Amino acid sequence: MPLPGTVRALYGNLQEGSPGASECERRSSGGLPSVSEYKKGLSLKDGAGKETKVYMGKNLTLGELTAKPGEKVSGWLHIADSGLEIPVSLICGMQDGPTVLVTGGIHNAEYVGIQAAIELREELKPSQMRGKVILFPLVNRTGFEHRTMSMVYEDGKNINREFPGDPSGTLTEQICHTFVDKVFPQVDYYIDLHCGDGYEELYPHVYTLGAASPKVNQASDAMARAVNVKFRYPSQNPSGGSYNQAGSMGVPGILLIQTVSLNVLKGGAVLSYCELKEQENSF
Ligand SMILES: [Zn+2]
Repeated sequence: MPLPGTVRALYGNLQEGSPGASECERRSSGGLPSVSEYKKGLSLKDGAGKETKVYMGKNLTLGELTAKPGEKVSGWLHIADSGLEIPVSLICGMQDGPTVLVTGGIHNAEYVGIQAAIELREELKPSQMRGKVILFPLVNRTGFEHRTMSMVYEDGKNINREFPGDPSGTLTEQICHTFVDKVFPQVDYYIDLHCGDGYEELYPHVYTLGAASPKVNQASDAMARAVNVKFRYPSQNPSGGSYNQAGSMGVPGILLIQTVSLNVLKGGAVLSYCELKEQENSF
């Protein structure tokens, strides 16, 4: 399936003349820059001719997994001492840049978000990317396996109501604490993918942070405005939900709900990411 334009735009080097258009798009050889060229620093020019240097990124590590620049690595994140592991992929772009967290399946019966995360994982090309992505396609794994209606199977709790969690609490509380302890501290932005649950029929909308610092709220709002859905709502909860919790820790984020179109959901995530890239210097 060809990538929608919004997904291609994530790579930051495929839109001719746009801010952030990279040297590799204009190389007469047509090839990607070499590692040694990245290490020296690539000179990039935007549409107005302004030149900046971009350097090779650093490794991305989470738990036992490490992705080097240009690599995509998939594996598992251990949840405290519960014995549970949840799937995660680390996508480490060649170029230095922000780290974006994408989660699907915090509510395990919201299948469009899960599928969008899986397809994003396959489509993102680290050799052409700036920055890094940590992607969890299915956070509530046991709920999915036991076909609950979005509650964690072992304790019947809703992950998006239990943050910041507790390392010695029930499984849901341990999942929340693991994200607070190991994931949120190393990301710059957060996109949480949802859709109508098994019992819901929802119109596409996006939640922004409302109870974080003004700077974080502003960044969250910019992310939401870039998403191709009509309705935006600011949340007023500082914690409880995953993206609210991350916001209270200084991570701008949105919760995107798209019931109908997989491509709009993926495109929304990527549009939001691209908006960040353009605005990050002003935050
Ligand atoms: Zn949900």
